[in-house]
Amino acid sequence: MIPKVRVKSVLNRHKRRDSWFLDDYSVNPYYGCQFACTYCYTRGGRYGRESHSLAAKANAPEVLDRQLRRRASKREYGFIALGTSTEPYMDVERELEITRKVLNVISYHRFPVHVLTKSTLVTRDSDLLAEIAGKAILPPDLEGKVGGALVTISMSTVDDELARFLEPGAPPPQRGLRL
Ligand code: SF4
Repeated sequence: MIPKVRVKSVLNRHKRRDSWFLDDYSVNPYYGCQFACTYCYTRGGRYGRESHSLAAKANAPEVLDRQLRRRASKREYGFIALGTSTEPYMDVERELEITRKVLNVISYHRFPVHVLTKSTLVTRDSDLLAEIAGKAILPPDLEGKVGGALVTISMSTVDDELARFLEPGAPPPQRGLRL
């Protein structure tokens, strides 16, 4: 089991919305990433070396609840990118369910979400994602143009053997293609 840490803040507000991900905010439920992709930008100049140490942000749901309550009271709705510097559906998530609890909070406060993942475990939370899609309040300029819950499954190759080298800890891409 990975270490659990407590954080003071979990919601990052972006200065500019990313035109590809549409996110005004980001949330990462974990530090580090078990998938250990050789090209991961979060490693900076450490390509091909060991990943950052892993830790679970154990109180992320409570902290996010407080932070989104404040944003919602000012109607500062915007897409939350879930998993910009970690994989939100690593194997530890099966037991810890921090990402699931974070989605619950996002749903409660009616924020739209964009989940970024390489894992088929995301399907476990399809109920919550459907709930968010049906109730999220979008920023005015995105209303009617896009749904309230987006999921991007990323893969750098469809060759399982090459993927074992590039993304040694991630599920094989062929599994993602079957979704
Ligand atoms: S899954 Fe994403 S965060 Fe994790 S190592 Fe790969 S690129 Fe980095």
